[in-house]
Amino acid sequence: MTIAITALSQEVAVDVGHYAAEPGVISASGVPEFEFNLALALDVKAELEKLQIKVRMIGERGDYAVLLERTRAARGADLFVSIHHDSVKERLLPEADRFSGFSLFISKANPKVEQSLACAGAIGARLRGAGFAPSRYHADAALGESRPFADEANGVHYYDNLAVARSAPMASVLVEAGVIVNREEDRRMLDPAVRRSIAAAVAGGVRDCLGNAP
Ligand SMILES: [Zn+2]
Repeated sequence: MTIAITALSQEVAVDVGHYAAEPGVISASGVPEFEFNLALALDVKAELEKLQIKVRMIGERGDYAVLLERTRAARGADLFVSIHHDSVKERLLPEADRFSGFSLFISKANPKVEQSLACAGAIGARLRGAGFAPSRYHADAALGESRPFADEANGVHYYDNLAVARSAPMASVLVEAGVIVNREEDRRMLDPAVRRSIAAAVAGGVRDCLGNAP
């Protein structure tokens, strides 16, 4: 008799952005970002496990107030993926319905910037393939914060001081899945089928880039 052994050689740290006491953006319908992040992160975990990729959840209990604790807890993982949902500048909130789509961030201060870029690009490509569009406004000086594109087509920006990306010893990507201060996007992001589709795209992108890693 032979026993099939699946080698779980690669491990991804899936970080739930924010925590219970400071839950991030409040969506158009009043749902805290932490709840969106937790639900999506758990779906990403399930999709990665389907692909035989091991997952370490970070911050899922909602008690990680110190950002550095997150990257410390991720030590040994091959990739750090932080899950968030997006907002717009405060003065643009009255026109928030104009803004939608995903954004991906990496830091040039991360020691594995090339792998970070490869993974972010692969995630963006998968999200586009699933019908989602990059938000793009973070690159704009007036609408966003002039965060330059690292991979324009796939919605990847440089955000060099991003604490979780900078302090992670492994490749790191921050995912803003959608703009939840937009009423329509808030509704879409709360739809379990949409959430699963985003999670499958994120997991597929992770597999694409880790599979291509040297
Ligand atoms: Zn956030």
